[in-house]
Amino acid sequence: MTTNRHARGSYLFTGTFEHELVSSMDQPVRCVNNIFDAIGELATCSAADLIEAVVIEESIIQSNVTANIDALRRVDPTAVLVVVSEKNTHPQADANVSKNTTSAGLCAAVTNAKSQPLEKTIPSEIDLDDVLGISDETKITRDSSDLGDVDLVRALMHAPMRFKEILVDLLKEQTGWTFCAILEDQTCAPETATIAPLRYGHEEHGILAAVGATADELRRWSHWAACWLDLARRQQHLKILAYQDELSGAWNRRFLKTCLTRELQIAREARRHLTVMIFDIDDFKHYNDKWGHDAGDEIIRELVKLLRSIIRKGDHVCRIGGDEFAVLFCDPEPPREPGSNHPTTIEILAKRFKEQVRLARFPKLGTEATGVLSISGGLATFPWDGMDVDSILLKADQRLLQSKRQGKNSITIGNET
Ligand code: GH3
Ligand code: MG
Repeated sequence: MTTNRHARGSYLFTGTFEHELVSSMDQPVRCVNNIFDAIGELATCSAADLIEAVVIEESIIQSNVTANIDALRRVDPTAVLVVVSEKNTHPQADANVSKNTTSAGLCAAVTNAKSQPLEKTIPSEIDLDDVLGISDETKITRDSSDLGDVDLVRALMHAPMRFKEILVDLLKEQTGWTFCAILEDQTCAPETATIAPLRYGHEEHGILAAVGATADELRRWSHWAACWLDLARRQQHLKILAYQDELSGAWNRRFLKTCLTRELQIAREARRHLTVMIFDIDDFKHYNDKWGHDAGDEIIRELVKLLRSIIRKGDHVCRIGGDEFAVLFCDPEPPREPGSNHPTTIEILAKRFKEQVRLARFPKLGTEATGVLSISGGLATFPWDGMDVDSILLKADQRLLQSKRQGKNSITIGNET
């Protein structure tokens, strides 16, 4: 077995291969004879010595291809698994190459291995930490110039939107490269730059471009940076999952409470009002009973879409219960009409939304059921209806119940509908 303990992104050859193929690889290589040694290598390689691809001779796994591929994947889901075969292809692998492949052919197969990006369900432009008020850049002040990884962990926790910028700063500091950037694609790179893909397992993170770096240096640092970028992406994804309603893609109750707390603080400081609407679908049980639960789910998703098309950019839609929703009207509005105690424009928005729901077409319900859905809601506004999160939500909820009691299909704004 041969190893290179200092390089990253090694290719692990498992089985018997032409000497010419293995020796002509640009990447560091390791060689083992059987699948158990390959599993051992994957399990024990250090973070500084990652295995990028496992190149498997078909005969080694032929007794049970699926079980062997599964075992490798379970040990390291990020390694690209390539099967080398005379004539067969194995869909369980990430790539298949023929026995007479060249080193260039093998590398191309690894690079092109099927991408399986993380599901992205929330618009990427939203700065969730900023909206929720949970980022705190004061905590990323550097204590020492040698604390590279600690700075990145802090950036992940307190300033995720600045993560890439801090990563690039650290790369420059550690390497002394005269230019370094993380780019979408190589067309944006300066002519004098060398480039390397930022790839972690199946995930692509753009490219690393640098001036003053050797090819080997660039490859090692691009693996290091890709690993951090992947962690940042996963962290962001988890955070979004924690605040999102899975069925509709709207925000959830946790988001409502956190965001409302922050927005109230902003409204207080800016001496602005802030309005919340809570609404509930009328007789929703009936829809489930008559058209089935799937049709009910579809209505929930369509309703969120409709709502998003009506509200303004800074407003938020949340699903806070089965058929109960809240809208946070955060976008600063034009001045209120003289003498009016309530934000007229939001009243208009809320009523327009109620009307649009009544007229909406829900394809899953078929033509016979168009124009039959209605909602009941209540509005509450800071500071008139409450000074804190709980009292404002309570007031909006009381008005929603008032709308239900008064026959449904209405929005209660103050004491009158
Ligand atoms: P009301 O006019 O008083 O609001 O009557 P309602 O029938 O809408 O009753 P209520 O709001 O108390 O109950 C909500 C119903 O919503 C209960 C359940 O059948 C349905 N529901 C809750 N969550 C889901 C969901 O995720 N999908 C679907 N399809 N239905 C749901
Ligand atoms: Mg209901």
